[in-house]
Amino acid sequence: MEAGELEAEKHVRFILAVEKVLSSLERSRPLFLRLLLLPLSNQPSVDSQRKDDFEALAMEHLRMNGAYWGLTTLYLLHRLDAVDLDEVVSWVLECQHESGGFAGNIGHDPHILYTLSAVQVLALLDKLDVLDADKVSNYVARLQNEDGSFSGDEWGEIDTRFSYCAICCLSILHHLDKINVEKAVNYIVSCKNLDGGFGCTPGAESHAGQIFCCIGALAITGSLNHVDKDLLGWWLCERQVKSGGLNGRPEKLPDVCYSWWVLSSLIIIDRVHWIDKNKLARFILDCQDKENGGISDRPDDAVDVFHTYFGVAGLSLLEYPGIKAIDPAYALPVDTVNKIFFGRLIVRTWRS
Ligand SMILES: [Zn+2]
Repeated sequence: MEAGELEAEKHVRFILAVEKVLSSLERSRPLFLRLLLLPLSNQPSVDSQRKDDFEALAMEHLRMNGAYWGLTTLYLLHRLDAVDLDEVVSWVLECQHESGGFAGNIGHDPHILYTLSAVQVLALLDKLDVLDADKVSNYVARLQNEDGSFSGDEWGEIDTRFSYCAICCLSILHHLDKINVEKAVNYIVSCKNLDGGFGCTPGAESHAGQIFCCIGALAITGSLNHVDKDLLGWWLCERQVKSGGLNGRPEKLPDVCYSWWVLSSLIIIDRVHWIDKNKLARFILDCQDKENGGISDRPDDAVDVFHTYFGVAGLSLLEYPGIKAIDPAYALPVDTVNKIFFGRLIVRTWRS
């Protein structure tokens, strides 16, 4: 892999430019966030009909999560300085409810997905001290059910994605003691399939996105002993197709966002050498818009912030030159994770 093939400066400009196009539409919002405040239907190149189910679910929560994708990408490319961070912090805080949970935007309902993104954004900006950690943690803890699973909000939908959100969020806030971790782990383990993968609920089919959530949660809680690493590693490395890209399930097309979900899981279970890393990096680089910046799901498709983030994060996991290292379990820069756990945990060294 050669440095210079990644159009880093163009991707930074793409993320910052989308906001400029939209700046005429809404004058009252902080510059960077204008992109994220538009209704989903107005977002650039979001065609959820065409997308995989898991991705459609991930895209649904575009506003607060969009802040996380955009800002993390800028951080990994050494350009967080291009954003007015105080404005971001005050917008994030305006999305918080009395319950302690965060909404995807001002005036919307809180959800565990937005709550994790809000906490990740504040961690990224090194501003966790603006939070009442107890209050946020109590909101998350109240979403745990008797069987150890987590609901996404007060309406009760259950999914292993929410287990990951809860565990990651509480770990960042140093409040895992507020939930029953053993039950949470047992529930995740109950979603394990005979193929070594994990689904969204017990008995549901294995999917790379859910596998990332389950493996990430098990890694954070020190419970990877429940994973058959060879069996799961085999399923994950079979996701690599001829072009070098990764898909989310058998028979599906490759997609840049799976560079994150599959790759991070393989790194956590120490089986990343089972795929062809150079071919994967080439696939991601082929998905760049080399003229205007941004990364798409597949070569020559339209670019968006979601795939730009997952492409850059994937290249970070592949140790592409010039990109900061990202932690595969917390989905935050390694610098940030070390800062959060300095003095509390052994410094994480996924990169040997
Ligand atoms: Zn995708």
